[in-house]
Amino acid sequence: MEYAFEQICNRFDRYLGRLHKSGDTQRGLIILDKSSDETALQGLARDFRREGHRWGQLYNLADVPLFVDSKATRMIQFADLIAHAIRRYYENGDASFFDVFSTSFDAVGGVTHGLVHYTPSGSECNCLACRQRAYG
Ligand SMILES: [Zn+2]
Repeated sequence: MEYAFEQICNRFDRYLGRLHKSGDTQRGLIILDKSSDETALQGLARDFRREGHRWGQLYNLADVPLFVDSKATRMIQFADLIAHAIRRYYENGDASFFDVFSTSFDAVGGVTHGLVHYTPSGSECNCLACRQRAYG
């Protein structure tokens, strides 16, 4: 979970950095379901902002992640639908929901930056993220 959170923070920050370089400066907020491990992730995010993470520093996040009750906002429910579709894609090989939004991940020049599949080195995978990593 911590590695995934670090990836999300880094990739979101880089996305905002690319927007800034193109003249569209914005700060981002990461909003998580309150049922997540709030204390550990708050601490991690604070450390990332102060000391950086394994890939560098965060520059474009406005604050530490906010934790909200998923019953109070549809945005968390929407994120749950996306997560469910991604899970079906990776665990069941069912792309029927994934394909609806698979072109919406952050991408530049045909390389998707907003989706990563962490696999052991040397393993082969034919998912969208691994295909682009192999040829990108
Ligand atoms: Zn893959």
